[in-house]
Amino acid sequence: MDNGEIKGETGTKEYHVLSLSGGKDSTALAFFIRDNMPEVHEQIEYVFCDTEHELPETYEYLDKIEVFLDKPIERLKPYKSFEHLLEMHNYLPSPHRRWCTIELKTKPFRKYVYDKFSKNGEGVINLYIGIRSDEMSRAAFNKYGDNYIQEVYPFVDSGINKKDVMDILEKSGIGLPDYYSWIDRSGCYFCFFKSKMKWINLYENHPDLYEKAIKLESSKIKDGGFGWNIDFTLKDMIKPENAKKIRENYEKLQAKRAEKRALNMPENSLFEYDSGFEENKCLFCHI
Ligand code: SF4
Repeated sequence: MDNGEIKGETGTKEYHVLSLSGGKDSTALAFFIRDNMPEVHEQIEYVFCDTEHELPETYEYLDKIEVFLDKPIERLKPYKSFEHLLEMHNYLPSPHRRWCTIELKTKPFRKYVYDKFSKNGEGVINLYIGIRSDEMSRAAFNKYGDNYIQEVYPFVDSGINKKDVMDILEKSGIGLPDYYSWIDRSGCYFCFFKSKMKWINLYENHPDLYEKAIKLESSKIKDGGFGWNIDFTLKDMIKPENAKKIRENYEKLQAKRAEKRALNMPENSLFEYDSGFEENKCLFCHI
């Protein structure tokens, strides 16, 4: 057997694939599988759909994962560059018009697994997804499943929550990706699923990438389109008076969150203080 193939109970060929995002949950899942599902670990393939606009810390983390797992990660490139696709669509992707995930992640992933595993129209691909048991309410279950791909949720099945994920990463020795000091999720540097404070953090940590995001935005605003953020253009966001206000609001929000946590109350009602669709998550980009 090779190429991630295992015979299932019914005799159907089964293939095992985990799409890593460079985020903590999919990484922890790789280590969870290694430690708890040895037969799957032996056969599983790790892939990463590279938008070519990921954070440098993400690329470094992927290199580290390969070393710690002692397994290669297949890096899938988009069939067309983001810049080319942007010209084709002529508007920036956004939460409601999220062509970026389809073009840069879903399509390359599907092409890869179908080409590699299903040439003969046989077998099932088990796609392992790192949704946690404490996230079940927002999980888009069966989003990528079809006749060939069936989604598997080991964390949900085993009741693994956020704290467990942190423990897995710590025990494995890999820890969190370095970007965690200023943003809590993987994805493109220009990802619109980001609060204003995280945009400011991007500017402070990677001014060159912020500048690139400005250029992409400017090219579409010039044509009458929307920018990356609802409230500000990126150029305006970093003006000292705006950055100061954003930081103050963020600090107020953090204080309120801490109060709610202390009282064991839900925090979601506070989302409005720092809009940016930050609560949304993509199975491919952010898990
Ligand atoms: S990380 Fe954000 S911008 Fe990049 S593909 Fe995913 S949703 Fe789109």
